[in-house]
Amino acid sequence: MTYLRLVERRNALRLIALTPIAAMTLRELAKAADGFATTPPMPVLFLGHGSPMNAIEDNPFTQGWQNVGKDLPRPNAILCISAHWETRGTFVTGMEKPRTIHDFGGFPQALFDVQYPAPGSPELATMTQEAMTSAHVGVDHAWGLDHGAWSVIMHLFPKADIPVVQLSLDRGLNPQQHYALAKELAVLRKKGVLIIGSGNMVHNLGILDWNRPDAGYDWAIDANSRMKELITGGDHAQLTNYTALGRAFQLSIPTPEHYLPLLYTLALKEEKERVSLFNDRLVMGSIAMTSLRIG
Ligand code: ZN
Repeated sequence: MTYLRLVERRNALRLIALTPIAAMTLRELAKAADGFATTPPMPVLFLGHGSPMNAIEDNPFTQGWQNVGKDLPRPNAILCISAHWETRGTFVTGMEKPRTIHDFGGFPQALFDVQYPAPGSPELATMTQEAMTSAHVGVDHAWGLDHGAWSVIMHLFPKADIPVVQLSLDRGLNPQQHYALAKELAVLRKKGVLIIGSGNMVHNLGILDWNRPDAGYDWAIDANSRMKELITGGDHAQLTNYTALGRAFQLSIPTPEHYLPLLYTLALKEEKERVSLFNDRLVMGSIAMTSLRIG
């Protein structure tokens, strides 16, 4: 810092001391600096989203999300890591008004008519960039809210009055790198940010079984059970190294994008925090709706 800058800084501080800002508490000053008041750590969610039709259906899964929504402290904003936004490099949505993206085909018009007009939060985008010190996080102005985000968040917060920001999955990272990066988001939990991973622990669309709407293949049941054991046992190392866990895991995770949001959620668990599971059911043979709340 040059001498001139130092003088300027001193004068600036003196100016602050002379203005009503001096009457602000330290906490208020901190709030003014980043706009988000410090809070006790917000819970973290992983939501198995399944079919986009869940957005407009009333079923045990949507009821499970609604119940969780009613039980949560009101967040300042939501940061959602959705299976449906993969990019080269990591990006965060920075627009004031994210559009509702209907990123699917072959569904009824009623689903395409759904709008979820939650505001964005350029402020949270900046806070996310600052939190993720080991990656260059780009700000995106083209994406919005994909169905991995809105089809579940609309059940948690039907009034669409909580700002939502999405964080993309960098295709260039391996699961261990995703897990390490996710840990850097922990600071946001103490700023009232609800972090939601949205995917499916077991997700193999290539072999969906339309004759089993409410059941899973044996291997899917096995993988779902093993995953739950590892989650409740806190064995994140094995969950991150899932490619070594055998055939049931290979069939359950043929591509990583629906599984990785689970790792983002688990990485944020503090040692003594409780994990509670809900919507623990398999559908269409090869989809697990299993969801969890941490904290
Ligand atoms: Zn999906």
